[in-house]
Amino acid sequence: MALDLETRTQLIETVRRFVRERLVPLERQVSDEDAVPTDVVAEMRELGLFGLTIPVSYGGLELTMEEEVMIAQELGWTSPAFRSVVGTNVGIGSQGIVMDGRPEQKDYWLPKLASGEVVASFCLTEPEAGSDAASLRTTAIRHGDHYLVNGTKRYITNANKAGVFTLMARTDPSNKGAGGVSAFVVPSNLAGISIGKPEKKMGQQGAHICDVVFDNVKMPLECLLGEREGLGFKLAMRVLDRGRLHIAGVCVGVAERLIHECVEYAKTRRQFGKNLGEFQMIQSMLADCRTEAYAAKCMVMDAARKRDEKGAVTIEASCAKYFASEMVGRVADKAVQIFGGAGYVADYGIERFYRDVRIFRIYEGTSQIQQVVIAREMLAGRDV
Ligand SMILES: Cc1cc2nc3c(=O)[nH]c(=O)nc-3n(C[C@H](O)[C@H](O)[C@H](O)COP(=O)(O)OP(=O)(O)OC[C@H]3O[C@@H](n4cnc5c(N)ncnc54)[C@H](O)[C@@H]3O)c2cc1C
Repeated sequence: MALDLETRTQLIETVRRFVRERLVPLERQVSDEDAVPTDVVAEMRELGLFGLTIPVSYGGLELTMEEEVMIAQELGWTSPAFRSVVGTNVGIGSQGIVMDGRPEQKDYWLPKLASGEVVASFCLTEPEAGSDAASLRTTAIRHGDHYLVNGTKRYITNANKAGVFTLMARTDPSNKGAGGVSAFVVPSNLAGISIGKPEKKMGQQGAHICDVVFDNVKMPLECLLGEREGLGFKLAMRVLDRGRLHIAGVCVGVAERLIHECVEYAKTRRQFGKNLGEFQMIQSMLADCRTEAYAAKCMVMDAARKRDEKGAVTIEASCAKYFASEMVGRVADKAVQIFGGAGYVADYGIERFYRDVRIFRIYEGTSQIQQVVIAREMLAGRDV
């Protein structure tokens, strides 16, 4: 159920203050140290940020999609690495359990995820299965009272901190497509699970991705998510529908931050005896940034409201993620241009955002995959 207006305004104000007063001053430190300080993570727990989307009955805030994207926009005002701390608990790591978990799975995991006591990660991608996720090769083969899991998952956000994985694995090796895949909720401490070293990335230092290797892991039958085997890929796609809207919201937030920085810079930096903002070519870039960010915001909010009203919004979620992630890339590029040399130099932070936003066009479905989804839905008569 939606929050009442006063509570919603209060929540947004609280997150806004936390982001701008507490997190923004730490951006450089987090990037340099490649770590979010533990006291900041504790404050995020206190604020309830880990449980934004988890039902109230399990200790979360149970935000509607509209409320969630509003918070995502607030979190986008700072380095996206901060959002990543809570991102998997709010989104791809927890939502499979919320959507398809059995009562005992929900009772056990959701309160821990809502409070941030446990971090969840989402294990779909593999070395040979990225965009073509339905071709995944990790197997979970039933042997009496357990499944035996073998395979490698790649680029898994927060894997090095995770207490639980939402795992997509093939339970029916004779079915090479989506129907052979099942979803599981797997404690990360089962014997045979190992975590790789965090990858060195282009941006978002402070957020980590690692391989997760399953080597003859004996996984209890109760780890299966959903009523029966074979529903895992569909579940993953439902989870990503929601995740794409969240990411689109973050993209709008980062664009707003960059626009703010550009406007402030254009008002004070002087060349040819004038402020940059007096040059029409600078104004043109500012206006393009504002127009695109506004368009993305309208799209995200509309898609989120539609999801709250009617459930699945596959095409709208893909349109929003596609447009917003490409938009923030263009805004970051213009921000570097408006800042000139300062845009390229680390001290000003603009180049960091430029690197940070690049991933938005890649994860939770690349831009090309969003285009594939959008066209597929249109051709199937499921247009917006
Ligand atoms: C920082 C980061 C965090 C991540 N977090 C997670 C996570 O938590 N969990 C998880 O499971 N995964 C995660 N991923 C993986 C991410 O979702 C994949 O990297 C992404 O889906 C793309 O897969 P790929 O890297 O294998 O690229 P590929 O699929 O190999 O794609 C390479 C290129 O080919 C294009 N392409 C592929 N197929 C088509 C097609 N049919 N038509 C047109 N073009 C196509 C792609 O768009 C891309 O441009 C993360 C990745 C990164 C880098």
